[in-house]
Amino acid sequence: MATYKGVDYLQIDSLLSEEERLVRQTARQFVEDEVLPVIKDCYNDGRFPAHLIPMMGELGFLGANIDGYGCAGMSALEYGLIMQEIERGDSGLRSFVSVQGALVMYPIFTYGSEEQKQHWLPRLQSGEAIGCFGLTEPGYGSNPGGMTTRAVRDGGDWVLNGEKTWITNGTVADVAVVWARTDEGVRGFLVERGTPGYTSSDIHGKLSMRASVTSSLAFSDCRIPEANRLPEAIGLKAALSCLSQARYGIGWGVIGAAMDCFETARVYSLERKQFDNKPIASHQLVQEKLAWMVTEITKAQLLALHCARLKDAGRIAPAHISMLKKNNTAIALECARLARDLLGANGIIDDYPVMRHLCNLETVKTYEGTDHIHTLVLGEMVTGVQAYR
Ligand SMILES: Cc1cc2nc3c(=O)[nH]c(=O)nc-3n(C[C@H](O)[C@H](O)[C@H](O)COP(=O)(O)OP(=O)(O)OC[C@H]3O[C@@H](n4cnc5c(N)ncnc54)[C@H](O)[C@@H]3O)c2cc1C
Repeated sequence: MATYKGVDYLQIDSLLSEEERLVRQTARQFVEDEVLPVIKDCYNDGRFPAHLIPMMGELGFLGANIDGYGCAGMSALEYGLIMQEIERGDSGLRSFVSVQGALVMYPIFTYGSEEQKQHWLPRLQSGEAIGCFGLTEPGYGSNPGGMTTRAVRDGGDWVLNGEKTWITNGTVADVAVVWARTDEGVRGFLVERGTPGYTSSDIHGKLSMRASVTSSLAFSDCRIPEANRLPEAIGLKAALSCLSQARYGIGWGVIGAAMDCFETARVYSLERKQFDNKPIASHQLVQEKLAWMVTEITKAQLLALHCARLKDAGRIAPAHISMLKKNNTAIALECARLARDLLGANGIIDDYPVMRHLCNLETVKTYEGTDHIHTLVLGEMVTGVQAYR
């Protein structure tokens, strides 16, 4: 059994069913046994732990909240708990699971034809196939609506030209969900590895998300059959709906990173002695930081739990998810910074997970809608005024 007990100082566990706790325990055990022993080396080497993919498929973690096609059909809450545990391991591994499930399987499930679902979903669920999601372009990050990648109809095909960048899983993907402008508006396409005119290359020099593959995709007169267009994906809102799924999982995932930073700092502060051989935990300034962390983690857990219940009831709105993603990422990043501080010089070394989480969370703050953009979504919710344009 995993020795890690989680962070629960407000009896939040009592709000979970036995089944929900069991799902979490399964993910926790997987992280304990399979992720923690390898993640430091993977991060340092800039290598994604690909051998974990089939295991995560076997455990039902990929597309966990999708029904049918071999998927586990879990609730939004169970899915969230899995994301929390996986990101306690590493944000890069959670990014893989987010992209595979929320950004590739979800659009195929929601907007795909029956043939596309039958062909891709079981393979993506088991991890036999890997997917990526191409929305961001070199000139269009926060404003994907400005995209310049174009798909033009030519007989029964589409001809795709353009470039996508910062694409998680790009070079390892068997299928890319690519968003492009057409004469009728934005549409989504399934571009298969090996299609002539489709190339990908990795982005090097990352000091964050080092255990995750991040790539650029290029399309040069790339011919896609109409059968590979997602027939129900009409307009940019289809792409944005996928982001809502992924952001929901991020709002849960970052709690795991925050929990790991908090627990590392709590244990360290009890062991590390300074001034008259007293543990640094005995000083008020140290306790103040731990108290802040545990309070914010607890609030983040409650926010995530309520969002999960709303999502399972079909009542969650994009602005709710903005609140979840923005708040929980911000507090996780601050927990990582405070934990780094409490570990002193040891805070910067890879014997501890804190600096790795801190660097990863800087990406999480930016991707899937930056902190600014989610702030402005909330601003619009309460004022009715769009400030991001
Ligand atoms: C490791 C990693 C993995 C990623 N994976 C994927 C992926 O799989 N698929 C994908 O499509 N994309 C992916 N992305 C891209 C990510 O979604 C974008 O980086 C993000 O949308 C921000 O875009 P940008 O980097 O171009 O920043 P910009 O949009 O240029 O923003 C720069 C700064 O300006 C601010 N800003 C911009 N507009 C406004 C405004 N109107 N008001 C106030 N502030 C504003 C931003 O908040 C930010 O602080 C990934 C990024 C990273 C780093």
